[in-house]
Amino acid sequence: MKALLYYGPRDIRYEDKPIPEPGPGEVVIKVGAALTCGTDFKAYRQGHAILLGEGPSPFGHEVSGTVHALGNPAPSFQPGERVVAANSAPCDRCAACQRGESNLCETLVLHNGAYAEYMRIPRHIAKHNLHKIPPSLSFESAAMAEPLACVLRCLSKLGIREGDELAVIGTGKMGLLLIHVASRLGARVTAIGRTPEKLEAARVCGARETLVLSKPEDLPKPPGIGRESPFGFPLIVEAVGKTETWRLAIALAKKGARVCLYGGCAIGAEVPVDSYKIHYHELTLIGCFHHTPKDFSRAVEMLKNGEIQTELFIEEQVALSDLKSIFENQMMNPRKLAVIP
Ligand SMILES: [Zn+2]
Ligand SMILES: [Zn+2]
Repeated sequence: MKALLYYGPRDIRYEDKPIPEPGPGEVVIKVGAALTCGTDFKAYRQGHAILLGEGPSPFGHEVSGTVHALGNPAPSFQPGERVVAANSAPCDRCAACQRGESNLCETLVLHNGAYAEYMRIPRHIAKHNLHKIPPSLSFESAAMAEPLACVLRCLSKLGIREGDELAVIGTGKMGLLLIHVASRLGARVTAIGRTPEKLEAARVCGARETLVLSKPEDLPKPPGIGRESPFGFPLIVEAVGKTETWRLAIALAKKGARVCLYGGCAIGAEVPVDSYKIHYHELTLIGCFHHTPKDFSRAVEMLKNGEIQTELFIEEQVALSDLKSIFENQMMNPRKLAVIP
């Protein structure tokens, strides 16, 4: 089979590999569609200790396809069934998994290999995070389940309910997906970004209001957003992953606000916080990482029910053979593409 492998930062290779054999409890799928993700482009540029580690490594993690072969003992799937797989699964043994916080599993391994004609699905993923999909759901829409699961985890940690007022900072693919899903769940979303063009995309995804802001210093004052200002939001998501937008998220928090810091900053980044605000305004700062099987199965259900307009996020279909040059040429402005082997 053909596969795109990651060897190290800015070194990916399109190679011939043997079709994987399923081990006990495993499934091998014939890839129907794999989506590119901002994280893949980031990993390509600078490496990614958690996602890929040392190369050479299989690459790509948002995937759907058809069951090709089953290991012995076989999980409860049949050859030819259409499925979508997550990129991790709980070990079932560690304290975090037993608490139901399997996104924090002590042995969390992120599984890659979607940029290939065939992909092996390890036993734990086959057991917890491999779902059948109906013919009505396209492979490329189904492959949105992984990023959607991450978004659902964020929104459930915030406790989003119908009618809630939410600000989302960031209009990249994840920011737009957060805006779209939160709007679908009934939140009134204000999108915050750097450019009017991106904010227009946010409106298409469901934002009711938009604000051009990128750092706390952009905030108007007075009357502005000071310590006692009534301006601000009760619920905020930061979906950029920069220290200035983390500061902006905290600066925009109203009294009693919950702030989800969804975008991961560079390793070692530190963010100063206003201790007065945290203490006297009772802010809750929430970290958020990855997803659990509950989030993933909810994501699959929403996709099956047609609740998510996946066409808003997937820009184009490309061939697996073209993906290497796409990575090499679109490093700084990654698009969400459906890769069809
Ligand atoms: Zn992803
Ligand atoms: Zn675990």
